[in-house]
Amino acid sequence: ELQFSSAVEAVMSYYPSVMRAIGGSEKIFEYVDRQPQVPPEGTLAPQNLEGHVQFKNVTFTYPTREDTPVLKGLSLELRPGQITALVGASGAGKSTCVSLLERFYLPQEGEILLDGEPLHSYKNQYLHDKISVVSQEPVLFARSVKDNIKYGRDDATDEEIYRAAELANAHKFISDLPNGYDTDAGEKGGQVSGGQKQRIAIARALIRKPRILVLDDATSNLDTETLLKDSNPCSVLLIAHKLSTVEKANHIVVLEEGKVLEEGSHVELLEKGGTYADLVNKQNTGNNDA
Ligand code: ATP
Repeated sequence: ELQFSSAVEAVMSYYPSVMRAIGGSEKIFEYVDRQPQVPPEGTLAPQNLEGHVQFKNVTFTYPTREDTPVLKGLSLELRPGQITALVGASGAGKSTCVSLLERFYLPQEGEILLDGEPLHSYKNQYLHDKISVVSQEPVLFARSVKDNIKYGRDDATDEEIYRAAELANAHKFISDLPNGYDTDAGEKGGQVSGGQKQRIAIARALIRKPRILVLDDATSNLDTETLLKDSNPCSVLLIAHKLSTVEKANHIVVLEEGKVLEEGSHVELLEKGGTYADLVNKQNTGNNDA
């Protein structure tokens, strides 16, 4: 089922002329008008940011589906030096949390705080620099691996590039490529797997020294622990579509229909014997069958 917003995006990218022709269409402006009002840009841009994020009783409804709240009084915390994993069935609201953190939307109720201040009280560019999101299918350019990482920050030194790659757990496989950091990372290179692509994208994100790193994990074989070896590690939010990656997270939050069902460490949740434990058991059974 194609969501309206992604349908609009698809039309915009494939048929720019169509978009121009229907630019005045009520449908589109109706959609835009119904977005919750975004407050004016904030002024905060502190030199030091910890990266402590708090979702407090956040209730959110997409403007196109006014009768169906997607997040219902959700509270969530991200702490520097900690990996917080969000798990839950498809449609539980994981990606919606990321959209709110990226300020694509405003919650109707509750608030999102960054180091204790409302997210919207910060400058836009500042937040853009401090929050990095690595999507499920990151785009790499048909350039060298090094250039792809450097794209995160033009003036990065080689040492900084290697360090970011180490933290992203990418340095070793990159060094083993035929031409190392000079290997072509583009489609035609064909030497880089999906998981490796994602790790290069993480290095690209880390080189900007974000304080909050969001990883939308498609490959579920990311080794995220190396991220915490940074001398000043950021807060990591891991969106897990499968369970295998989240074991090592410091904190696991299980979402169901926009609410936190249970949370804790992997061991705590297994001991609790709730939904998470059921999911893990089911997955293990599945693996044995395979
Ligand atoms: P998945 O694991 O499949 O990515 P998810 O947990 O990330 O799922 P969300 O993408 O946050 O779930 O979706 C939560 C609910 O919000 C779903 O019912 C979805 O259909 C709805 N939704 C998501 N994006 C939009 C949008 N742009 N407009 C309207 N409804 C949306």
